[in-house]
Amino acid sequence: MKLVSIVVPCYNEEESLPLFYEEIQKIMQQMQNEHSELTFELVFIDDGSRDKTLILLREMALKDMRVRYISFSRNFGKEAGMFAGLENAKGDYVVVMDADLQHPPAFLPKMYNFVKDGEYDCATTRRVSRKGESKIRSAFARLFYKIMNKISQTEIVDGAQDFRFMSRQMVNAILEMHEYNRFSKGIFSWVGFKTRYIEYENVERVAGSTSWSFWGLFRYSLEGIMAFSTAPLMIACILGILACVIGFVLFIVWIVQAVQEDMMRSQTGMMCALFLIGGLQMFCTGISAQYLAKAYMESKHRPIYLMRENEEIYRSRNQDKMQEN
Ligand code: UDP
Ligand code: MG
Repeated sequence: MKLVSIVVPCYNEEESLPLFYEEIQKIMQQMQNEHSELTFELVFIDDGSRDKTLILLREMALKDMRVRYISFSRNFGKEAGMFAGLENAKGDYVVVMDADLQHPPAFLPKMYNFVKDGEYDCATTRRVSRKGESKIRSAFARLFYKIMNKISQTEIVDGAQDFRFMSRQMVNAILEMHEYNRFSKGIFSWVGFKTRYIEYENVERVAGSTSWSFWGLFRYSLEGIMAFSTAPLMIACILGILACVIGFVLFIVWIVQAVQEDMMRSQTGMMCALFLIGGLQMFCTGISAQYLAKAYMESKHRPIYLMRENEEIYRSRNQDKMQEN
């Protein structure tokens, strides 16, 4: 028998969750019919939702023994959710997917076919279009992938997603990476292993709304750059050298001007140089400080997530209701 764990991070997904559960049940049934060796578990992560997500998960866990869940003590972010899911999944294969059906469950049989013989360790999808997304957002996303792939040795495929069907070996490798500042797109790529991409057109959310603001995404992309590249530190050095050269040239010009006659103009030149160098210094110190801040957070070894409740705790509290079912 082969167990497939399906990990689903959920943050305020009361509207999508019932639809997702219905769809995934159909697919699990279909896959079991085709491959009699397969069994499934669903590992939902309630990432500190403020709506009825946890209540729905509790109901599902009482009725369906395949449903497991971990409820966080607060919102820790999707990255922490995925980590918790991978850490708690017991499967020989682990799937990570969103609850909003933007990762169509219909792809799972195809993905399983790629990993089942061990030829690939991971099957994942790649969006070839960004249909339904705002133009500015797509433009910035494309810019991010361009910069990222220029300055980092870890390749990050444009349009790659956190929708993955992975072997146990690959999951174990990911779990070895305990970093606090997690950027999964980079982590999936950094661990290596053989990955098969399946291309598809973007699908819009079934219900609810995205929890990513533009600013949130911007911060997340900076996080990604800093987690997988130290090139910005190099930029700081180069800018510093450049500023020194400019300063030196201006110094010569100033001496020449002062000697010749025009003191007023030479003072303006001084002001310019002052601002230029001051600004560059602040910029470079800022970049170094950002990395220092990340190192500081890592050195605290804080847990990536904290659990408040899971299906075991809930089931043992509600033995009576379980027997009724
Ligand atoms: N999510 C989460 N914690 C968060 C934000 C999002 O677990 O803090 C989950 C969310 O419930 C969904 C998935 O991550 O299942 C993707 O989120 P969303 O659809 O908002 O992102 P988008 O698809 O717009 O990138
Ligand atoms: Mg989504």
